[in-house]
Amino acid sequence: MTTPTRTHRTTPAPHSSAELIRAEAPVLAHNYHPLPVVVARAEGVWVEDVEGRRYLDLLAGYSALNFGHRHPALTAAAHDQLDRLTLTSRAFHHDRLGGFAEGLARLTGLDMVLPMNTGAEAVESAIKVARKWAYEVKGVARDRATIVVAAENFHGRTTTIVGFSSDDTARAGFGPFTPGFRVVPFNDLAALEAAIDETTAAVLIEPIQGEAGVVIPDDGYLTGVRDLTRRAGCLFIADEIQSGLGRTGRTLAVDHESVVPDVLLLGKALGGGIVPVSAVLARRDVLCVLRPGEHGSTFGGNPLAAAVGSAVVDLLATGEFQRRAAELGTVLHTGLAALAGRGITGFRARGLWAGVDIDPAIATGREISERLMHEGVLVKDTHGATIRLAPPLTITREELESALASLEKVLGQSS
Ligand SMILES: *Cc1c(COP(=O)(O)O)cnc(C)c1O
Repeated sequence: MTTPTRTHRTTPAPHSSAELIRAEAPVLAHNYHPLPVVVARAEGVWVEDVEGRRYLDLLAGYSALNFGHRHPALTAAAHDQLDRLTLTSRAFHHDRLGGFAEGLARLTGLDMVLPMNTGAEAVESAIKVARKWAYEVKGVARDRATIVVAAENFHGRTTTIVGFSSDDTARAGFGPFTPGFRVVPFNDLAALEAAIDETTAAVLIEPIQGEAGVVIPDDGYLTGVRDLTRRAGCLFIADEIQSGLGRTGRTLAVDHESVVPDVLLLGKALGGGIVPVSAVLARRDVLCVLRPGEHGSTFGGNPLAAAVGSAVVDLLATGEFQRRAAELGTVLHTGLAALAGRGITGFRARGLWAGVDIDPAIATGREISERLMHEGVLVKDTHGATIRLAPPLTITREELESALASLEKVLGQSS
């Protein structure tokens, strides 16, 4: 067995990365294909593996770590809450939930909050709310409601949600699926208009498709979706679980077109990288279709989640992170533009978020991710040829430039 070479420990680590990876394989479901790095601790934009190697985290937990690892304001809020009250269930009131809901509503400009835990739960909850709204308010015939979604979407992993995915890997083998969904191409207003009829409860889209490779629609698309849904009398549900909370240089991706959806879904960064926290936000007349007993979650809106979520809202209320994402986004976009034709065939970027298409003649997305890992930079590939960059919004300009230099270096390496 070889011992790690890039560490300065005097005594050998009790468990090497390789040993830990070998040990978990027989007992852990193989639903992921992680890079061969075993993280043991982290702070800010840096993670450290069990051998003490340090890496810049340019994935940031798929935007769950927008404020970096263990942001002091967030861990302080969590520690404080851990020492007072962690769970009540919604059978009782607790003293943190009202303030969290109020702050989140104020931050986003919507009226009411339905707290949940994971992103997929928020999407499922929005589907239920939209259907009930269609029957009770719009007058759609019982069990006939439809929801229009975009091709190449990613909204989570439940059976209902993967049922309207166009990604065969996510979908195949998991049927039968929930009916009532229509799939249209993303960024195509004519197709969307054609798919909407009197049965349509809602249009559900990601304002920027993250998992698809940070696919940004044309200017005017979100405004068009807003106009179409308003005219058709159906709801516009914006899934901002990945795009929201500062990532794009604004609080929400829909803010770039000054569009307000009827229903807004948040998750990932809402939990501050500490606990899963998601939320459905909506207009009062929409969310009020839910009455006691009709929907719920044991952990949704628990005191620890509410305390961390409130601290996240407080961080975003200053506008500092949105500003950083916008300013450093310019550095990221300029850096990527300089690599055009030098190993990358294209990129899409908004704020501190980019999908970078690797020239298949050079390497796959996975190979580039592995090479970057050896350079001390962690990213994730998606759909074979694309890598996704989403550093914590706390990254410095120097750190970002060094990551871009690493990308340039590995693009120039021969396989
Ligand atoms: C990650 C994600 C989800 C699902 O969130 P989970 O917490 O993993 O269930 C839903 N929608 C979008 C846009 C996402 O990026």
